[in-house]
Amino acid sequence: RFISLEGGEGTGKSTLAAGLEAVLVQRGIGVERTREPGGTPGAEEIRKLLVEGAAERWQPMSEALLLYAARHDHVERRIKPELAAGRWVISDRFFDSTTAYQGAAGGIDRSTLDKLRRLTLGNFTPDLTLVLDLDPEFGLQRAGSRGGSEQRFEGKGLAFHQRLRKGFLDIAAAEPDRCATIDARQPQDRVLAAALSQIEQRLGW
Ligand code: C5P
Repeated sequence: RFISLEGGEGTGKSTLAAGLEAVLVQRGIGVERTREPGGTPGAEEIRKLLVEGAAERWQPMSEALLLYAARHDHVERRIKPELAAGRWVISDRFFDSTTAYQGAAGGIDRSTLDKLRRLTLGNFTPDLTLVLDLDPEFGLQRAGSRGGSEQRFEGKGLAFHQRLRKGFLDIAAAEPDRCATIDARQPQDRVLAAALSQIEQRLGW
């Protein structure tokens, strides 16, 4: 099973990923937790190119190409082999982040990004995508108090983050069989419980 976690800055994806891993492992499931951009040595190198440096270092299309180069390596060298070995993979971000950040928020049209996706990944998709939804005013506050790479995105302003939020919600609405939205303003234990309930219902586990 392949589960991706999506959402804007400070929505709690990493916390949820760690929580899910702990519960699944406790129940005897082999779990591989990973993240994007990154997840393999090569993709982590590309991540550095993306997150280090000034906010305006790359245009959205250049970012999208770097992200898909990283993602191709991640899928071929890590995600597919883990799934083939019978393990579950939980990824903190996957292709919906590109559709939301570089597409809905960054301005690249959806069909261009979909072509890039087909070209690099074919029909490969997560079995389940959990979209953590949060008002960006709260999310940026959380992310800001934590520090880190998100800082560079605060420069993009609230409007960018509002388009981003809508981008994720539109993806979830368009693909209800694959995606479930979770209210990320809830306390962490409630978010985890909601995620587990979606996994049980949708993955029959
Ligand atoms: O998930 P995380 O917050 O670690 O993501 C690292 C950085 O890359 C963040 O600042 C995020 O906003 C950015 N990002 C991006 N485009 C993507 C995915 C992540 O700009 N498609």
